[in-house]
Amino acid sequence: MQEHDVIIIGAGPAGLTAALYCSRAGLNTVVIEKLAPGGQAATTAQVDNYPGFPGGVMGPELTQRMEEQARSFGTEIVMAEIDSIGGQAGSFSVVAGSEQLQGKAIILASGARERPLGVPGEKEFRGRGVSYCATCDAAFFRDQKVAVIGGGDAAVEEAVYLTKFASKVSLIHRRDALRASKALQNQALDHPKMEFYWDCVVTSMNGDQRLEQVQIENVKTGEKTRLEVNGVFIYVGYLPNTEFVRDLIETDDAGYILTKEDMSTSVPGIFAAGDARAKYLRQVVTAAGDGAVAAVAVERFLDHL
Ligand code: NAP
Repeated sequence: MQEHDVIIIGAGPAGLTAALYCSRAGLNTVVIEKLAPGGQAATTAQVDNYPGFPGGVMGPELTQRMEEQARSFGTEIVMAEIDSIGGQAGSFSVVAGSEQLQGKAIILASGARERPLGVPGEKEFRGRGVSYCATCDAAFFRDQKVAVIGGGDAAVEEAVYLTKFASKVSLIHRRDALRASKALQNQALDHPKMEFYWDCVVTSMNGDQRLEQVQIENVKTGEKTRLEVNGVFIYVGYLPNTEFVRDLIETDDAGYILTKEDMSTSVPGIFAAGDARAKYLRQVVTAAGDGAVAAVAVERFLDHL
C-alpha cells in the first residue's frame, strides 16, 4: 500500500492548486483523477476572468499549466476512479480500482458534472447532435444551425463561442431574462448570429440517425414550435460529484459538501475544495482559492496530528 501525507481526489483547478500548495510545502501528495486532469475548466473554450491573462486563456491551456506546476513540485497524479474511502484522520485508506492508497488527510475536489435536461430524445441523440461541451464539439457544426439550452454563464459563454463555427445559434431559455453576467450578456444579446427563444422549454429532441429538430414550447402562451437544428448544447447547471462520500460526510440537500471557512468537512482530516463544495460562486478562480486554503489547512492539521 502506498503511503502519502495527503490524497487529493480530483485534478481540476481546485485539486491541482491544492496539490501545488501541498507539494511545495513538502507534503507527499497524490492526486487521483478518473478522467483527464483539468476538470470542467479543461472543457471551457476561453476563460476571460482568470487574473493574469489579459485577452483570456484557453481552458485546456490554463489547466495544463496548473498540472505542470503541481508536478514540478513533486505531485503524483494517478488515473483511477474512487471505490471507497475508509479509516480516520492520520490513516485514511482509499481504494481506487487496482490502487490502494493510504493518506493522513484527504482533500475532496471532485467537482461537478453537467445536469441532463431529462427530455425524450436527449439520451438517444447524445454524441449524435446532443452535446454538453461546445469546446469539444463545436467544430463538428461548422456552418450548421445549433441551439443552446440555458440562461446561465455557461450557456451564454458557450453560445457566443459557438457563433465562431455555426451559421446560427438559437438560445432557448425558460425565462425572459438571462442569469448570466452582464459582461457575457453584452457579448450575446446583439450578436448577429444569435437569436433568442424567451420563456421557452425544449420538450423533445427528434431525428432519424442524427438529431434533426427540437420541439419547443412557450411556457407563457403554450405555443409549440419545431426548430430545425443539427446540434443542441445543454447547459442547465451541474450536479456535484459527491455520491461516493454521501454516507461519510455532511452535504446540503443537493449533495454539495458542507465546509467551514478552512475547507474542513464534518469528518476530521477530510477537507473539500472547488465546485463539489456548497459555496456562493463556482469559478476557476474560486476553485483555485479553495484549493490553496484546503492545502494550508491540511498542513496545519498534520502539524497538530
Ligand atoms: P447556472 O448558473 O445554475 O444556470 C443554469 C441555467 O439553466 C439557468 O439559466 C437555469 O434557468 C437553466 N435551467 C436549469 N434547469 C433547467 C431546466 N430543467 N430547463 C431549462 N432550463 C434550466 O449554471 P451554469 O451556467 O452552468 O453555471 C454554473 C456555475 O459555473 C455558476 O456559478 C456560473 O457562474 C459558473 N460559470 C462561470 C463562468 C464564467 O464566469 N465565465 C462560465 C461558466 C460557468 P433559470 O435562470 O431560470 O434558473
